[in-house]
Amino acid sequence: MQQHFIGGQWVAPASGESLPVRDPSTGEVFDQLARGNAEDIDRAVVAARRALGGPWGLLTATERGRILSKMGQIMLSRAEELAQLEARDTGKPLTQARTDITVAARYCEFYGGAADKVHGHQIPYLNDFHVVVMHEPHGVTAHILPWNYPAQMFGRSVVPALAMGNAVVLKPSEDACLTPLMFCRIAQEAGLPDGALNVVTGLGEEAGAALTAHPGINFVTFTGSPDVGRLVQKAAGERLIKCVLELGGKSPQIVFADADLDRAEATILKAITQNAGQTCSAGSRLLIQESILDEFMERVKKRFVASRAGSPTMDLDCGPLINAAQKERVEGFIRRAVDSGVPLLAQGEVATDVAAGGYYVAPTVFGPVPRGHELACDEVFGPVLSLIPFKDEADAVQLANATDFGLLAGIWTRDGSRQTRMAKRMQCGQVYLNCYGAGGGVELPFGGVKHSGHGREKGFMSLEEFCVIKTVVQYHGE
Ligand code: NAD
Repeated sequence: MQQHFIGGQWVAPASGESLPVRDPSTGEVFDQLARGNAEDIDRAVVAARRALGGPWGLLTATERGRILSKMGQIMLSRAEELAQLEARDTGKPLTQARTDITVAARYCEFYGGAADKVHGHQIPYLNDFHVVVMHEPHGVTAHILPWNYPAQMFGRSVVPALAMGNAVVLKPSEDACLTPLMFCRIAQEAGLPDGALNVVTGLGEEAGAALTAHPGINFVTFTGSPDVGRLVQKAAGERLIKCVLELGGKSPQIVFADADLDRAEATILKAITQNAGQTCSAGSRLLIQESILDEFMERVKKRFVASRAGSPTMDLDCGPLINAAQKERVEGFIRRAVDSGVPLLAQGEVATDVAAGGYYVAPTVFGPVPRGHELACDEVFGPVLSLIPFKDEADAVQLANATDFGLLAGIWTRDGSRQTRMAKRMQCGQVYLNCYGAGGGVELPFGGVKHSGHGREKGFMSLEEFCVIKTVVQYHGE
């Protein structure tokens, strides 16, 4: 893993330096990564450009699709080995890691099948004119990814770009990038031509910044924090290239008094403990109608008291956080909330037999959290839920939209008209009615508004992000 994947070759970093890979469940170093810099990025962009003018650029859409589908099949045939690697690298419970590999393979299957189904169209226009609209690849696409779901993110970001015929340069997160590196081997085995996929590992300020500033890229897609998203958009702006941003969230789950409370209760804990809360779409705010506040708080409390964090193989409600800094950050939120008098409603446990050096934080729920408190507004990115009461529908709408973010919203009510009204009023990219998250949704367009970003990934629609629309007007009069 101490090398980049450039032009179909495993190459040593120009710096000759490496970065440690730690196991979040023990804090121990178990591998080293290549520390990429601007020189490595330049080699990767040159290799990608060459691929566009070579065998990769000559493949038909159907041939591209076949390779991607084959990648998915190979991933599934090695699913257990890949899941073990993902769990070790990220600390997530094995069941979650297994799901992530299956979802990554599903992206290959979905976009492999879709590659030759993006058709242009013809526009009726003036007499003696023939107009067609064509979809063409951007060219070299840059992809910068976070650490929370490395395998899934590869599927969601890289695979559709390849389906549309772009050549990719990927900078995965320095905190979790082992499965994306394994996917390079799988891509090669599936027949992906050299240079179509290039991966440079390393730090954000070094390899990431060099990638976004490189004059040879034609498009950039970034998934990560709003702060870095700003830098990426700025770099794209300098070069006037298109940029897709998938950023953070502070998504509300809104429970009305008429909801199926059993169903809501069962989903709420999972929506914040999945991946130890390190999920952009985590349901991190629980808004409860005042008339059922006491009853529902009691239910939530019981769930949290019974919840447990443990190592990936223990496969409990959640695993450790990704690194020491993230653990410190999440514990900081908990400490400040307690110090400022926010009631700590319940806290689960960390299993007793975990390694002392692991980055564990037990699932925690605070409530009622005062409106305007940082726990009600800021993304914690850990297993910490904020419970906030609301009065009526108008109040719920105001409260739900009262953060800078706008990624998801979950609405729990049996009133069909209210479901529609609420869905229309939520300032976000996805709304779930009487459910939340619904299994990942490879097929469903996903993305945010406000500080949660712009552009859409997932689903058929995301293919449009990865291409340029060209209009061709032909005069065919005699
Ligand atoms: P991050 O912003 O710290 O890092 C993301 C990536 O950007 C990493 O690969 C990092 O190396 C790189 N990077 C850092 N500085 C850079 C720079 N100056 N130039 C270019 N690249 C740079 O985010 P993270 O901590 O890895 O992930 C957590 C964040 O990601 C959370 O805010 C979470 O909500 C968000 N996220 C969003 C989605 C979504 O789909 N909306 C999905 C997953 C995570």
